[in-house]
Amino acid sequence: MTEEADIYELLEAVKDPEIPVLSVVDLGIVRKVDWISPKKLKITITPTYSGCPAMDTIEREISEILQSKGFEVEVVTSISEAWTTDWISEKGRKNLEEYGIAPPAEATTDKSFITGNSKNVHCPRCKSEETSLISQFGSTACKALYKCDSCHETFDYFKCI
Ligand SMILES: [Zn+2]
Repeated sequence: MTEEADIYELLEAVKDPEIPVLSVVDLGIVRKVDWISPKKLKITITPTYSGCPAMDTIEREISEILQSKGFEVEVVTSISEAWTTDWISEKGRKNLEEYGIAPPAEATTDKSFITGNSKNVHCPRCKSEETSLISQFGSTACKALYKCDSCHETFDYFKCI
């Protein structure tokens, strides 16, 4: 008998194509696992933001990994509750930082990153709070590009939404 926890464990293998250290489970986009029949699953996901090009890939990979275990899969998208960066797990935040991306600051209401004056953005390398915004768009639209004023490294910041 496969438990819900087993399904989540399988889904740990599905990574955000833009951030390979972050699984869809860590990202918090897998909202629900339902059994339609013993061999048929319905997976409810909430996209990180509308129009994120990675979502198609993610949906396909969720189906593929579960199909490889003998399940029939239906992936449904739910936007009744909007995804926020608060849904990223503790482990996900730690992985992001180790990967060199500053994890989103706790409060999603804080939009001060727009002005570049946010003290919430820590350098993932030296942990300095003396950072400045270079560009609102980093390597992808979900990230902003920052520069650390202490160690002079540039890094991506996962924007709060
Ligand atoms: Zn630094």
